[in-house]
Amino acid sequence: MKVYFDNNATTPLHPEVKKEMTAAMEMYGNPSSMHAYGREAKANVEDARQRVASFINADDREIVFVGSGSEANNTVLSLFVCASAQCIPGTTARGTIITTKIEHPCVLETSECLMHRGVNVKFLDVDRYGRVDLDQLKDMLNDDIGLVSVMMANNEIGTMQDIAAITNMVHECGAFMHTDAVQAVGKVPVDVRALGVDFLTMSAHKIYGPKGVGALYVKQGTPYCPLIRGGHQERGRRAGTENTLGILGLGKAVEMRALEMHDEHDRLLGLKELLRKGIEDKIDDIHFNGHPTESLAGTLNVSFPGAEGESILLYLDLEGIAVSTGSACASGSLDPSHVLLATGVDAERAHGSIRISLGRESTTQHVQHMLNVLPGVIERIRNMSTAYIKGGTHAASR
Ligand SMILES: *Cc1c(COP(=O)(O)O)cnc(C)c1O
Repeated sequence: MKVYFDNNATTPLHPEVKKEMTAAMEMYGNPSSMHAYGREAKANVEDARQRVASFINADDREIVFVGSGSEANNTVLSLFVCASAQCIPGTTARGTIITTKIEHPCVLETSECLMHRGVNVKFLDVDRYGRVDLDQLKDMLNDDIGLVSVMMANNEIGTMQDIAAITNMVHECGAFMHTDAVQAVGKVPVDVRALGVDFLTMSAHKIYGPKGVGALYVKQGTPYCPLIRGGHQERGRRAGTENTLGILGLGKAVEMRALEMHDEHDRLLGLKELLRKGIEDKIDDIHFNGHPTESLAGTLNVSFPGAEGESILLYLDLEGIAVSTGSACASGSLDPSHVLLATGVDAERAHGSIRISLGRESTTQHVQHMLNVLPGVIERIRNMSTAYIKGGTHAASR
């Protein structure tokens, strides 16, 4: 049995998205062209914009199509440098950005780059469940803060933040608010008016749409500066000929989310609970990471002290089960997850953790297969680990 439990990394195309994209495969007009070919492409792009906008309760003029969630996040952080340099009319020179320690690397690494360019960046702590400390935010806010960027739902542990409350505080001090909602949009209701945010990031491939396309919500009247320049596309906010097929796929993906996400949410919560209980019953010495309730329905992050996450991943892969670890093993480093470390988990427990992320194709059979396979995998790995002593303590070395 093949089991895909890595839906926070990416998702399979929804069959309806695939159908719509396949039917549109022959459409090659450039939306900027005035002839019939161009007008057809343009109409499709604008139809998708309408769908995306209404899905998050925005106006279609507030939606900028971009090449990825990463690009949207880079755009927001980078435009702030423009704003503080006062090259955007009507902005004031506020030199500080606040973000959190648990953001996606595309926010954290862009922040580091901005620090090298003279921007002051402050990183909010999180509690042991991964929730932002609102008192700390309150203390940090002052009239030098230009932008606050806090993710709505974390990709590794699933913890969700109270973005509406944070946005209120941020606006009170006169700063702009951005949220990376890549993991939240299409899983929980997201209404940009209710949240009050100025910028919001979403990505198609996390919600059964195609890879390489995302959208950035920019509230009307908010200062803006393009990251990609040199074209009038997207009202001058993102140059480059539009990814027409991808945009069309994103539009269909959100349409399908609107139909399916509510029932799916409850179903996934049930599956996660089955998984959580099963792991608890069958395996000793485990720790669940993330918030017990304020969390994505399909995300379960669990630590198995004495078993390396990468080993668990590879053994499960041999059994046809796909999960992920938080550590950046793909880049050759074995640094433990910055998210787990920020929640106060020690490096060893962080190393022994895996993320199981369910999705619309996940079934009870998949969960049962996982529960049949996982205990044996953990036992095998722990038995090989000379440093592991059952009961949660570890010999320093032998
Ligand atoms: C996947 C992800 C991103 C990046 O989106 P891409 O479209 O893959 O660039 C950003 N933030 C979060 C929280 C994500 O899960």
